[in-house]
Amino acid sequence: MTHESGGRGGLGAGFETLAIHAGQPADPSTGAVVTPISLATTFAQDAVGKHAGFEYGRTGNPTRAALEDCLATLEGAARGLAFASGMAAEDAVLRALVAPGDHVVLPLDAYGGTFRLVSRVYADTGVSWSAADLTEPDALAAVFTPTTRVVWIETPTNPALGIVDIEAVSAVAHAHGVTVVVDNTFATPYLQQPLALGADVVVHSTTKYLGGHSDTIGGFAAVGNAELGDQLAFLQNAMGAVPGPFDCYLVLRGIKTLAVRMDRHCENAATIAAMLDQHPAVDRVLYPGLNSHPGHDIAARQMRAFGGMISFIAAGGEEAALDIAAATELFTLAESLGAVESLIEHPGRMTHASAAGSPLEVDPALIRLSVGLESVDDLLTDLRLALDEVTP
Ligand SMILES: *Cc1c(COP(=O)(O)O)cnc(C)c1O
Repeated sequence: MTHESGGRGGLGAGFETLAIHAGQPADPSTGAVVTPISLATTFAQDAVGKHAGFEYGRTGNPTRAALEDCLATLEGAARGLAFASGMAAEDAVLRALVAPGDHVVLPLDAYGGTFRLVSRVYADTGVSWSAADLTEPDALAAVFTPTTRVVWIETPTNPALGIVDIEAVSAVAHAHGVTVVVDNTFATPYLQQPLALGADVVVHSTTKYLGGHSDTIGGFAAVGNAELGDQLAFLQNAMGAVPGPFDCYLVLRGIKTLAVRMDRHCENAATIAAMLDQHPAVDRVLYPGLNSHPGHDIAARQMRAFGGMISFIAAGGEEAALDIAAATELFTLAESLGAVESLIEHPGRMTHASAAGSPLEVDPALIRLSVGLESVDDLLTDLRLALDEVTP
């Protein structure tokens, strides 16, 4: 990584400082304190092969390089690569790690798109998969086959908000020569640092909390091993699913406020989870911040705070869940998550519809909330009114 280090200790090491400064020195040609959106697709060379580090925009771009440096630093990674979407990042990571004949272990409630990628796109090329309950690391060895190459972790999981012990799963996986990938989209590097906990690869949908404002699609992969980083850089260039410079700028801009946004997401979510926990229209709240959550102790150990996502089971079943999702006004009925505005969705029919009929099928009474940054009293009122409508 290439940080400008000043004479008095350079960047410092605090997360908030690195989020604002890592990879983003003042522009040397103008002094601009904001990383320029560099639109050039090609870069002048002094002589053949003699250039300032950039040749062609798919292979490398200055705005993208700033994002890659910054986010790799925040994940404590040797190398980070930005992609056009979270799915493009996942595709590059899987291509680097698995070949026909290999086997992948997925969590029981993987992100729907991850499940679709592995079960439809990769299975068609001869890669097999199993779904396992990763909240039971001791049971994991039984799922491994001699051809298992990857165990894919999400924590908190989507949409059931289960907590996976990254350290414990990594230990079992590594004992079997299996590579550990963590989708860190829900937690972000501010709340959780998977590489420090033993994982090998971190992937992100930067579309969510990192971008943070529902205005850009992007993905990221970060690795502890420089050789795997080179392989991913090869695939990034060879497959070409790169983000545009403006999208990289938006994610960089989002990251600058990540820490303060996450603090408030977590605070608002904790308040809302406590209200839901007491409401008669709610059968069960799935939020790792609640003492009653089975993964609470692990989450408290491996996360800084418990995140901005909450799921709950409607006491009145699927019909009540659909009614609640339709009744809120501030909580917008929409897919996606992780931005300033609060969202509500029905995973069974929306984000996780592609898992229907599979081991990853979700409870039809489940509702998922992405708690935003509005006044928490307004959010509480909106949810209470919607829940009261379906209370028997
Ligand atoms: C959204 C999401 C993805 C996919 O990212 P895109 O940017 O939509 O391609 C992957 N994992 C998780 C956990 C997500 O929420």
